[in-house]
Amino acid sequence: KQFIDLGLSPVVVQAIEKLGFEEPTPIQKEAIPFLLANQKDITALAQTGTGKTAAFGLPLLEKVDSTISNTQGLILVPTRELGQQVASQLKQFAAFAKAVHIEVVYGGASIEQQIRALRKAPHIIIATPGRLIDLINRRKVDLSNVNYVVLDEADEMLNMGFKEDIDTILETTPNEKNTWLFSATMSKGIRHIASNYLNNPHEIKI
Ligand code: AMP
Repeated sequence: KQFIDLGLSPVVVQAIEKLGFEEPTPIQKEAIPFLLANQKDITALAQTGTGKTAAFGLPLLEKVDSTISNTQGLILVPTRELGQQVASQLKQFAAFAKAVHIEVVYGGASIEQQIRALRKAPHIIIATPGRLIDLINRRKVDLSNVNYVVLDEADEMLNMGFKEDIDTILETTPNEKNTWLFSATMSKGIRHIASNYLNNPHEIKI
């Protein structure tokens, strides 16, 4: 199966081809058609390097309505570095669909600049949990229209002590959202999050 067979739109496939991706990886073959076709929560077991970013990033880009200027997608990541990587990949995937506005926020950097960036209500926000909580508490981010929440490297976020922040964020975002949980391991803590916040999730294992 090629990318076009997964149900992606031609502009997105064009961008992927430009990046030199020739064939979808196993997790992409599983996750992309499922997420495009279903409004459902998922858990996906995926290591770094498997192409997991595109597995959630491409369907998320397809789901966002760029004609509406509000935040529809939220991606939580454990570190600033991963946040920057995910943002840079998503921007490349959206290269031919330029209307999609993507911002990344993380701790250890000036919050003022991030507050300014969030004023325009990006379609997709990529965030480390602690900084996002700070922005929520300052009322500088509106998550009331979020339809999709991705937990990227969920096990790493738990290892870094973000459990409480993740709970708060999942409770703060709308009930009807879809949650896509990606993790390299399915530890007890991960299963706990899945059973507390995911609704009958579809499981993807590769
Ligand atoms: P990730 O697992 O998302 O961190 O991706 C690992 C690396 O593989 C990144 O540099 C991606 O750009 C690259 N990659 C992802 N999917 C593909 C693909 N289908 N073909 C070639 N490279 C890919």
